[in-house]
Amino acid sequence: MQDLSDKGSALKAKFKKFQKLSLLLYALAAISFVFASNIPLTIILVVLDIFLETRLYVCPHCGKTLDCRRRVHDDVTCPKCQKYIFRGL
Ligand SMILES: [Zn+2]
Repeated sequence: MQDLSDKGSALKAKFKKFQKLSLLLYALAAISFVFASNIPLTIILVVLDIFLETRLYVCPHCGKTLDCRRRVHDDVTCPKCQKYIFRGL
């Protein structure tokens, strides 16, 4: 297998960063729900996470929103177009 292009590596790095951000948002949502009983804030955080996920966590080939709980590695394929997500960019 050939190495990823610069664009592919950059996208992979972006996805990894987004996974961390997403976990953080969910953790904050859980904290605001459990400890602060702040339902509006919980909803805002979850909606923000879903919004970011559908805008940023998409297949670069066909635009399908991906499941950000999936592991990110070089040979991940898109469930819709079956292309390698980080290859051929
Ligand atoms: Zn795709």
